[in-house]
Amino acid sequence: MKKNLLLLSVLLLGVSVVCAQSATSKIPHTHSTRKVAVSKRTEIIVPQVNGYNCYKGDFHIHTTYSDGRVNPAGRVIEAWEDGLDIIAITDHYESRSGEKRFLKVIAPYSSDGKPMEYQNAKTAGAIKADFNAIHQEAVDQLNKSGYPMLLIKGCEMARNAKTHGHFNALFLKNINTVYNADMKVAFEKVREQGGIVIHNHPAWRRKTSDKTEFHESVYGANLISGVEVANGYSFYPHIVRRCIDEKLAMFGNTDVHGFTSGYAANGDLRTMTLVFAKNLTEKAVKEAILKRRTLVYSGGDLIGEESWLKGLLNASIDCRMVKEDAKKGVRTYQLTNHSSFSYHFRRGKTTYELQPFKTVLFTFGKNKKTGEYLPPRVRVENMWIADYKHPTIELELDK
Ligand SMILES: [Zn+2]
Ligand SMILES: [Zn+2]
Repeated sequence: MKKNLLLLSVLLLGVSVVCAQSATSKIPHTHSTRKVAVSKRTEIIVPQVNGYNCYKGDFHIHTTYSDGRVNPAGRVIEAWEDGLDIIAITDHYESRSGEKRFLKVIAPYSSDGKPMEYQNAKTAGAIKADFNAIHQEAVDQLNKSGYPMLLIKGCEMARNAKTHGHFNALFLKNINTVYNADMKVAFEKVREQGGIVIHNHPAWRRKTSDKTEFHESVYGANLISGVEVANGYSFYPHIVRRCIDEKLAMFGNTDVHGFTSGYAANGDLRTMTLVFAKNLTEKAVKEAILKRRTLVYSGGDLIGEESWLKGLLNASIDCRMVKEDAKKGVRTYQLTNHSSFSYHFRRGKTTYELQPFKTVLFTFGKNKKTGEYLPPRVRVENMWIADYKHPTIELELDK
């Protein structure tokens, strides 16, 4: 009897082990909590203007190789997610605090146990870093991801803010060979490679955006092709006039050192240069810049030449007359915004915001002197033209 009981309990135990095994085998070892795979690029919709495509660019970006907090691959992913088409990674050429920090960290592991020497333009008289390799890291990420973006090879040349200031060299072939202690000679070297120089944040650490003696000399020698009218959230109103008078391209760049996610946190798009080009190639983009087909976006404001702002507004807005009241002498127009930019219209004392992909109705009366109906004309308060002014733009009908 005892024997039989023992046999029964062994059998029962066996059954329960089998049951537990079959129950646990249904539990996966990894459970993905992701419900939906979300694509993250923010599309910035801007219609064609005067037959040109609008490409969104940032020509001033730092990485961990100079004093930024994101590496080149991260910058490429970030730019794609932010809706950009063109970027230039422009690390500082003369000083690279990221490298300095890195050398400090690895010092105990150098062969002689002594800290490795950080050599910048001041200590060594020349550059000791492969800037082309920084660009290549970004190119590798671009190829890996397959993003249809354009990467421009460049660097930032930074000297004393009061006398010289900072400049970006863009469209370079070999970044490593453009350094010269004499900044003007360095600019000439950029030109010899087929590159261009743009003047960065002209009022930074200064109380003026006026030219210094050095600026007069390099602008005078036609070594400058463009100027930042906006750097991040800083807009330099005097520079718009300079760009028009001296035939220079207007740029708006982030000069990002930290993360661009701060713009989205503000409900904003990052500061950018709108480039109007036939296609997304280095040749077409460079030609667009040299022919000054650019506008600037910063903090919801659009800055540039009046004719291009007018073109942008008319390309963005579909305007049609929907009603005519002969008795009252008014016409009603329907304005639909087909772009990702908001437009702020001033009418009398009120400003109306025409948000992206929204429609508004406006009525326009008659000219009291002539008795003719007034055309749909609006003052655009978030657009800036030369001399710190807003443009007044007549909308084209039924395009
Ligand atoms: Zn700078
Ligand atoms: Zn910078």
